[in-house]
Amino acid sequence: MALKRRDFLKWAGAAAGSAVVTGCATTGSGSAGRVVVIGAGYGGATAAKYVKMWAPDIDVTLVERGSEFVSCPLSNLVIGGNAQLTDITMSYDGPRKRGIRMLRDEAVAVDATKREVRLASGTTLGYDRLIVSPGIDFNYASLPGLQSADAQSRVLHAWKAGPQTVALRKQLEGMRDGGAYVLHIPRAPFRCPPGPYERVCQVADYFKRAKPKSKIVVLDTNEDIISKKGLFLAAWNGMYKGMIDYRPNSELTDVDARTLTAKLQFDDVKADVLNVVPPQRAADIVRSAGLAGPHGWCDIDWVTYESKLVPGIHVLGDATLSAPAMPKSATMANQHAKVCAAAVIAAIKGAPANPAPMVVNTCYSFVDGKTVMHVASVHQYDTAQKTMVPIKGAGGLSDKASEVEGIFAWGWARNIWADTLA
Ligand SMILES: Cc1cc2nc3c(=O)[nH]c(=O)nc-3n(C[C@H](O)[C@H](O)[C@H](O)COP(=O)(O)OP(=O)(O)OC[C@H]3O[C@@H](n4cnc5c(N)ncnc54)[C@H](O)[C@@H]3O)c2cc1C
Repeated sequence: MALKRRDFLKWAGAAAGSAVVTGCATTGSGSAGRVVVIGAGYGGATAAKYVKMWAPDIDVTLVERGSEFVSCPLSNLVIGGNAQLTDITMSYDGPRKRGIRMLRDEAVAVDATKREVRLASGTTLGYDRLIVSPGIDFNYASLPGLQSADAQSRVLHAWKAGPQTVALRKQLEGMRDGGAYVLHIPRAPFRCPPGPYERVCQVADYFKRAKPKSKIVVLDTNEDIISKKGLFLAAWNGMYKGMIDYRPNSELTDVDARTLTAKLQFDDVKADVLNVVPPQRAADIVRSAGLAGPHGWCDIDWVTYESKLVPGIHVLGDATLSAPAMPKSATMANQHAKVCAAAVIAAIKGAPANPAPMVVNTCYSFVDGKTVMHVASVHQYDTAQKTMVPIKGAGGLSDKASEVEGIFAWGWARNIWADTLA
């Protein structure tokens, strides 16, 4: 449906925060239904695009609180000084040009009975199907010393790309040569399993160039490196030999943000730059919507992506309770989005969903500014187990990191950005 001028002004005003509009978005004549998408990251922006592209007669509204898309993939390069934030920041002009109603606002509540989403501006959006792809939020409950805004401004996570990415880079630039960068990794599952180990490589690459007397201490809650272990160890024991002190089974009991001290059960580790990636759960909005289970993630039907707890609401991306061996990654969120978009269109049009969806994952990790390795996997719906399972023998791992894969990694990024946003 083409947006009427009167409606456009109403929504544009609400989006700019200059007016508060209450009332439901209405289905105009010729519209097959209303889809609202919460979150314009890798999952949500892709889902909105594919619903609109495959079913132009469906009204699609995409709600995003950020003004621009900032990519987490490649954000470790910014921390290592091998890229700028502008290299990984993109506008939301693409979805707008496709006829998607793009609202810069925050979804604050969902009424699944009335099928309405309430926004921070006061606007209420009605929907036939709601797609929720809000990513993750952090669970600070086990870290009392990190609960205040002041503590969080000193001890950064940089696990959502944007201002914290730049701030962590500045902390590293300001650190004395001979200082210690301490990275804490939470217990899995968390967003991007290889991401912390890639960050170690990026910081090591920077220290090697600019602060060669400095050290990196990795406090990993997990028993071992959980992704690309052999490949990361090859880099740590090779090009970064002697720089990295990796300590598995190192769960944080608390943090002293004033002295930059990581507190472990039997030990305290003092840092010059302390970077704590906190434990994670699905982003806040899923709790208000009643979509999260006791584990903090959203359990879904992998054929339709519909929540197992709340009908009419589909969840995808990092917020889902991951299927066995399925990583929380941008590639995976992008793949979820397409299966989900098709299933949502089918539900609106009374057609069956694809009973055997298949998704693929590829994840690149930069060892330095140019050298890269990948892991890939293929996951198919298993009707007996009612979940996605990895296909044995499909996918794989690089033999070693290489500059050729560095070219592939930037190609992957440009492709997925175009697929998500153009
Ligand atoms: C350092 C790092 C490196 C990574 N590298 C890779 C990589 O190389 N390859 C890879 O595949 N993956 C990588 N990832 C993982 C990838 O970033 C995530 O898996 C992916 O972003 C998940 O997509 P999503 O749609 O679930 O969440 P997101 O992309 O985070 O999108 C969620 C969006 O929802 C918005 N939002 C949330 N709540 C609301 C609300 N209530 N109202 C309005 N808007 C809301 C947020 O502002 C955000 O824009 C990396 C992650 C990190 C942290």
